[in-house]
Amino acid sequence: MRFNGFGQGSAMVKETGYYEMLGVKSSASSEEIKKAYRKLALKYHPDKNPNEGEKFKLISQAYEVLSDSKKRDLYDQGGEQAIKEGGMGSGGGFSSPMDIFDMFFGGGGRMQREKRGKDVVHQLTVSLEDVYNGATRKLALKKNIICDKCEGRGGKKGAVEKCSNCKGRGIEIHVQQIGPGMVQQIQTMCSQCHGQGEQINPKDRCKNCNGRKIVKERKILEVYIDKGAKDGQKITFHGEGDQEPGLEPGDVIIILDQKEHDVFRRHVNDLIMKMEILLVEALCGFKRTLETLDKRILLITSCPGEVIKPGGFKCVFNEGMPIHRNPFEKGQLIIQFSVKFPLDGWIPPNELAELEAHLPPREDVMITDDMEQVELTEFISTEQSKRYTGEAYEEDESPRGGVQCQTS
Ligand SMILES: [Zn+2]
Ligand SMILES: [Zn+2]
Repeated sequence: MRFNGFGQGSAMVKETGYYEMLGVKSSASSEEIKKAYRKLALKYHPDKNPNEGEKFKLISQAYEVLSDSKKRDLYDQGGEQAIKEGGMGSGGGFSSPMDIFDMFFGGGGRMQREKRGKDVVHQLTVSLEDVYNGATRKLALKKNIICDKCEGRGGKKGAVEKCSNCKGRGIEIHVQQIGPGMVQQIQTMCSQCHGQGEQINPKDRCKNCNGRKIVKERKILEVYIDKGAKDGQKITFHGEGDQEPGLEPGDVIIILDQKEHDVFRRHVNDLIMKMEILLVEALCGFKRTLETLDKRILLITSCPGEVIKPGGFKCVFNEGMPIHRNPFEKGQLIIQFSVKFPLDGWIPPNELAELEAHLPPREDVMITDDMEQVELTEFISTEQSKRYTGEAYEEDESPRGGVQCQTS
């Protein structure tokens, strides 16, 4: 848990550029940073957004620093300058954005990538109801498959010949004189076969794939969303990536992106909600109904004599999220209460004594002659006072540590 002073999270760090790049506050938890990277990296990945390569790189650099607690501390204290001055290990540089992406999304990595085709990552937006109840979604995607007419040869059997220009090597070598008696050999991709090392006589070319060996196909994937699946969870379809001659196809990886819900906020296996009750209910007990994510109606009742405090938490066991792979067990439903107080003048002044007789007694105040009596007036918020009253408490209202549950 990061310390955040009086709502001035940003004042405690030297620079906020990396945080802004990911769109998070400088007090963000590592989970929030991961989530922000996940969303942005998928949006700006060169496969999806070829013109945003620079942005993709910057997102990756910001994540590389902020996801590592040592580098993040260094950045918070010394800014980008500190990171560049040796904070990034002996090499002093950032990892490649693709490596960061592959590490995060579990792609094959460079070694595997040479023998395997690319993994394809898709994001699938799901509701809280979907991950509570479990769901099946159909996802249509276009993929390259090996042409079945020519079996991936690109033409008739025997029509494929070694490229005469490069003799099948796919490269051309040019010799260039760079000075008196000095020559340099330059290798370039063969201009005739574009590095393929082979050529097909145009009249023998496969009509189905036009000699490209692969064709596009529309494929429907059925995605099973387990009960209790987490935000950001990966669902992998092995070998469903693009096919390419001579390569093992990569995977299709579906990343779940759970939308926010109007009533419930999810915190791991718990659900957190806010409930406003009246003062009379806070003191004398209440009954409220609540629709669950699977459309059951809960009747929530407080115990007689139980006082609900403003901002206080109570919980209902086993009404949180189903636990992934153990869905008969559920987390807790945590309710944070606010209490609606009556307005000024709600009770005739002559009845106050009667009310007071029922309330816990007040404490006596010793009054002496040297005291100055002052009046209370309405408080009008100014920019200055906002910093101390509002911002300091608006962040992160989730209960910290364990919540004490009332069992009865
Ligand atoms: Zn060639
Ligand atoms: Zn073909």
